[in-house]
Amino acid sequence: MTAATTQKTVQIKNYIGGKPASALGGETFETLNPATNKVLGQVAQGGAEDIEMAAQAAKEAFDRGPWRKMSVAERAEVVSKIGDLILERKEELATAESLDTGKPITESLTGDIPRSALNFHFFAKFAASQAEELYSNSINGVNERHLAIREPLGVCGLITPWNLPLYLATWKLAPALVMGNSCILKPAEWTPYTAFLFSEIASQAGLPPGVFNLVNGFGPGSAGEALTLNKAVASISFTGETTTGKAIMKNCAQSLKKVSFELGGKGASIIFDDADLDTAIETSLRAAYRNQGQICLAGSRLFVQEGSFKKVRDAIKAKVEAIRVGDPLDSNTEMGALVSKEHLEKVQSYIDLGKKEGKLITGGERIKELGEGNFLRPALFEGLPYDSRLCQEEIFGPVLPIIPFKTEEDVLAMVNSTDYGLSTSIWTENVNRAHRVSRDLEVGLVWVNCWFARDLRTPFGGQKSSGIGREGGNHSLDFFSETKTISYRYK
Ligand code: NAD
Repeated sequence: MTAATTQKTVQIKNYIGGKPASALGGETFETLNPATNKVLGQVAQGGAEDIEMAAQAAKEAFDRGPWRKMSVAERAEVVSKIGDLILERKEELATAESLDTGKPITESLTGDIPRSALNFHFFAKFAASQAEELYSNSINGVNERHLAIREPLGVCGLITPWNLPLYLATWKLAPALVMGNSCILKPAEWTPYTAFLFSEIASQAGLPPGVFNLVNGFGPGSAGEALTLNKAVASISFTGETTTGKAIMKNCAQSLKKVSFELGGKGASIIFDDADLDTAIETSLRAAYRNQGQICLAGSRLFVQEGSFKKVRDAIKAKVEAIRVGDPLDSNTEMGALVSKEHLEKVQSYIDLGKKEGKLITGGERIKELGEGNFLRPALFEGLPYDSRLCQEEIFGPVLPIIPFKTEEDVLAMVNSTDYGLSTSIWTENVNRAHRVSRDLEVGLVWVNCWFARDLRTPFGGQKSSGIGREGGNHSLDFFSETKTISYRYK
């Protein structure tokens, strides 16, 4: 028996006003282990009344608690302590994340969890280092000083997806908290485990009660929708599907909430003939299949210039066939299980369609030897038209179409033809070409000779249907605050 099959059922509660809480209606739902499809945890199923209770606790903490009145430097100490405590509990959090999502433990241990800690360490240091804006002028003997300050928004609603659960929740929590807000987090229903463990950390780090609140539940007609409709909530920061973003925006319009959206993607890797092919192949493989292909930034279309197409296709095929798919808790596993049966079925339906419209070069079948879990052999296609559904829609699974191209113009037209505009990698040794193509890509993030390179100070987000607004550095601090200008006139 593997570790993935021997877990006890965990109790995952809400966390409101500084205490764990069952749902007011007493309801629960199950979260499953994607590697076995057995029950991993019983989760409190929050609804509108739980959101209302959390909103009152958050508002009370904001209006009368100490958090908002503390200086940024004082809050940064607590925020930084949260990062320390995440690192102290790294093994436990990584195991929980892999059990809940199906991702390989090495990814949780070296990626998701350290990055969650870094989000707190980064924003603590960054926010504390930002000076307020001050402008002076003097006209006809009249002197003026204009000071722009940031103030917290109030109660911030945070709604997150299942693919990088703690990593993406903390990417919102860290800037929201350091700016002095109170928060209500609604994590994805498929992966609620680490958010609940986080509530213990928040309390241990010294966050005053009501500053961090957690309400579990579903989206439409449940906790998610209630959060977007609650009048005490000033803003919604959302990461998830584009269609969900549209529904949330409609609800937020009713009370004019500030919104930030990080939505779907259909990224690409473009390999030119003059690229360092070995590095391009290795990295494009990772860009397509990491986290079972369930990454918004995935290079989920691979465009290869004609002169290198055969070499790249054959190399990628061999590497895809060598990917070790298995128990997410085994440190040798390179690809784990897809997050749920429903999601697996959606991905399989794209594979079935791809077999009709193009040629499946390898993979694409369920791995029955691994039991009842959502294991799929990574799939590679060729011969799919660039405007086919597999090349246009977000599949969010280990499925990669490889497409040849002749010229820069051809590839730009194909890459830009989707509704999405999140990210693209370009592989070339020609710096002029890299610059030209970067400027013509309709995306928020371009990587030249790399993938997933990040400096947390830089803006992160998508164009077109991939989002509204940017996160990172001052972009996050701006979103989680109101600015106020105070002007002085003196002699
Ligand atoms: P989803 O939109 O189905 O759900 C995300 C969250 O929204 C969940 O917590 C869900 O309960 C909630 N929700 C659903 N309907 C709602 C409603 N009507 N009102 C309020 N809340 C609602 O997305 P998902 O399937 O969890 O995540 C995958 C998607 O997230 C993909 O499209 C992926 O590209 C995107 N994503 C984007 C980024 C980015 O940075 N751009 C990062 C990660 C994931």
